[in-house]
Amino acid sequence: MPGYEELRSAFQELALANKPVIAHASLQPFGYIQNGAETVLQALSDSVRSLIMPTFTYRTMVTPEVGPPNNGIIYGIDGDLNKMAQPFTLNMPADPMMGILSETLRNHSAAVRTSHPILSFAGMGADLMLGAQTLFEPLAPIGALADEDGWVVLINVDHSVNTSIHYAEKLARRKQFIRWALLENRVVECPNFPGDSSGFNAIASYIQPDSRRVDMGGAFIQAIPLRRLFEAVQELIKLDPLALLCQRPDCERCNAIRNM
Ligand SMILES: [Zn+2]
Repeated sequence: MPGYEELRSAFQELALANKPVIAHASLQPFGYIQNGAETVLQALSDSVRSLIMPTFTYRTMVTPEVGPPNNGIIYGIDGDLNKMAQPFTLNMPADPMMGILSETLRNHSAAVRTSHPILSFAGMGADLMLGAQTLFEPLAPIGALADEDGWVVLINVDHSVNTSIHYAEKLARRKQFIRWALLENRVVECPNFPGDSSGFNAIASYIQPDSRRVDMGGAFIQAIPLRRLFEAVQELIKLDPLALLCQRPDCERCNAIRNM
């Protein structure tokens, strides 16, 4: 696995020292070793102005028996999953699918975590941006980041995990969904829940000229300016209202958008 110096110089090549950043990461291609995430986090946070990452917790989600129509969900069949749902607390770990770097950031002594029961973010030096989140506007920290000329950094991952594209979908007035999360003593409705991201790689060629990329053996780091990303997503959806949807015939959320 590359050490601090090598990682630091790779992140510095992206020239984001005075930019706030949202990052998504898989550390396996670095040849991940135990405690390696602390090294990556240190190198990354030392190379940007401020850093946020999603610390989403899908295990808090419950599905009601009935609900609003065309909501990209099948009601009433998740009884067993509902029984396994866990109430959100601020110290609930991020889902493993968020990656070890998110969880490492969440556990950092300087990190702050937001309290959305499904779509929380953790960050360092980003209190103002994190503070933009509400239950009604779960992705507002990404908009606040873009207002500050923020960038998204993808570390060994592609656009299928690029949450910022969801923010741009909403700017393009694409349908959002309603989901429900368990708290200690009640269920809370979570509006403006985003769609499915598995078709997002279709954006890659459009934003490639504005992206910065550093290759490190089998690993890579890519950075994209959020404002340009938002523009590209909105242009694409304007040209084709079905752009960036996935092709899985059983994808409830993509089908709900097709059925608008
Ligand atoms: Zn889909």
